[in-house]
Amino acid sequence: MGNAQAVEPKNTTVSDKVSMDELVALCKRRGFIFSASEIYGGINGFWDFGPLGVLLKNNLRDRWWNDMVIAPPIGPDGEPLQIMGVDSSIIQNPKAWVASGHVDTFNDPMVDCKLTKLRYRQDHLVAVVDERNGQIFAFYQEALEDKGTLKKLKKQAGTDELEKLKVIPFTAIPASDYGKVIGPDTDQKGTLTEPRKFNLMFKTYVGATATEDDIAYLRPETAQGIFLNYKNIVDNMRVRVPFGIAQVGKAFRNEVTPRNFIYRSREFEQMEMEWFCHPDEAKKWFEFWTDARKKWWEAVGVSPANLQLRPHDKDELSHYAKAGVGTVDVEYRFPFTAPGFGELEGIAHRCDFDLTQHEKHSGKKMEYFDDSVQPPRRFIPHVIEPAAGLTRGVLALLAEAYTADPSRPSQMYMKFKPSMAPVKAAVLPLLNKDGLPEIAQKLYYSMRTKFMTEYDAKGNIGKRYARHDEIGTPFCITIDTDTPKDQAVTIRFRDTMAQERVALDKIETFVQTALKE
Ligand code: ATP
Repeated sequence: MGNAQAVEPKNTTVSDKVSMDELVALCKRRGFIFSASEIYGGINGFWDFGPLGVLLKNNLRDRWWNDMVIAPPIGPDGEPLQIMGVDSSIIQNPKAWVASGHVDTFNDPMVDCKLTKLRYRQDHLVAVVDERNGQIFAFYQEALEDKGTLKKLKKQAGTDELEKLKVIPFTAIPASDYGKVIGPDTDQKGTLTEPRKFNLMFKTYVGATATEDDIAYLRPETAQGIFLNYKNIVDNMRVRVPFGIAQVGKAFRNEVTPRNFIYRSREFEQMEMEWFCHPDEAKKWFEFWTDARKKWWEAVGVSPANLQLRPHDKDELSHYAKAGVGTVDVEYRFPFTAPGFGELEGIAHRCDFDLTQHEKHSGKKMEYFDDSVQPPRRFIPHVIEPAAGLTRGVLALLAEAYTADPSRPSQMYMKFKPSMAPVKAAVLPLLNKDGLPEIAQKLYYSMRTKFMTEYDAKGNIGKRYARHDEIGTPFCITIDTDTPKDQAVTIRFRDTMAQERVALDKIETFVQTALKE
């Protein structure tokens, strides 16, 4: 939030489609996502993917890997781009994190409430200022979308005219004014402490002695593992600038306040690609990747209406991006940000910051020698980085898919794009006799080797359809008493509930074709 603005009461803690509570409940009930260590009461900021969740996550990850590494996009000159994959260690030499700036600057400002013992990210709070009396109220920005919070605010400020109050970033409030601040979860003034910097990297010890000299860090981003391998790739892999290196994997951040389900967790997965190019071409590639990445999210089933590109303000840019052509976030309208948006992916021009830093700290040359031009030239490549959250991507796909439908027994269904759906097809013998299970199993044994198929013979057919609606299976194939006679099955389409009769020996190709769309 850049500028002061009036409080606009909005009746939207949820998107039009689904509330976070409904989504979290479905995820647990149907085996998408569970709290980590649930039997011990959980652990804040950590989540486990269940059988359906891991299928969904892997589908999204594999699609990204395919579209980056196996078949990268066609570039502006009509040639396929060159991108290679790596899988680097989570723990690296700690000097790498000094060079990258993470040891010194990967800090978040936190404030504590002395009364409630709750902790807040200072830069995620807004200050609602009552200029009549200097009173200041602090809230999480998204709480201002919440009816209950607005009611509390009206009561505390003693006015119904909230538009008279001014909303500014909480970071604009000097610590000397904290005495006038009523914190988010209290009625009393002056309970918030001054902001303190908190480094987000998890520390651990390598080796048995566990002294200060053995400290190492769990990587807070996958990007540095790529920069650390840049020289290996240039020296050994016969690549020419421009080219890319891609990596998918876990990253760890000791977030001050993990929130909003898997949106902000302490262990999560990223899908990052560093695109190395000549400095003069950085603008061209930044535009190329911004466009390509937004289109990619649309291709995996996110509706353009729920996506936006948001360029960073000058004062928001990271230190490494200040001199560059900019940073753009691909944002999604998450249920808890609606009608606003939250970051899904960032596309940043990192300039030559990382390679230059690693050159300085390691003493190893990072220059690239380009003899494809006359005269040949040496330069440190600039980097365009599309950095996406795999975990956040899963949340976006879940929120996007959730579709209420009171006409169904399940009251809703998950409208995943078929290629992203955890289970593609279900084979359902209508009865457990009359030769139907034998036909169904034969079909299942063949289909399961081609795509994720479930065999489900239990319960009445309505209940079986309802479960597959809830997990988003696009095609249910029923073997009924006519099948032995006409050698045909009924396929039920998840989105329309329409049913069609298809020949038994054509059904597999039918599904395979539909999955390609
Ligand atoms: P934020 O401002 O939301 O903390 P960021 O700008 O620090 O995110 P980046 O460092 O650009 O995030 O990381 C790239 C991507 O990694 C983000 O767009 C997001 O999808 C994902 N990501 C970052 N932090 C988390 C987290 N704590 N939990 C889940 N995903 C995360």
